[in-house]
Amino acid sequence: MPFYDYRCQACGKLARLQFSYSEYGKVQPVCPNCGSLEIKRRISRVAVAKSEDSRLDSMMEGDLAGLDEDDPRSLGKFMRKMGKEMGEDLGGEFNEVVDRLEKGESPEAIEQSMPDLAAGLDSLDEIG
Ligand SMILES: [Zn+2]
Repeated sequence: MPFYDYRCQACGKLARLQFSYSEYGKVQPVCPNCGSLEIKRRISRVAVAKSEDSRLDSMMEGDLAGLDEDDPRSLGKFMRKMGKEMGEDLGGEFNEVVDRLEKGESPEAIEQSMPDLAAGLDSLDEIG
């Protein structure tokens, strides 16, 4: 049976309890030291380090390192990947910009032809 690590909120002691997979979540854990029910599952440091946010951060760092801001195609590829990774529908204008970047149009030319986009491109700069 797997072990689960807990910390007692009442006495502060660590406790390692054993549950079967079917018991876990159904059985109320009890502090073996003081009998308190105020006992919380400890989340390992590894699990915390691999939270969604830091995963996105490290992925973006990698992508930013390979980003050539002077190359519209590189920028377009980066923006497309960001859009996908965020899992949000960033709208038709975003997709149009990405398409035009990937065709090699300069960001300045696209911005001039689509004045509404200036705000969006500004916020993208903040990533770097
Ligand atoms: Zn306790």
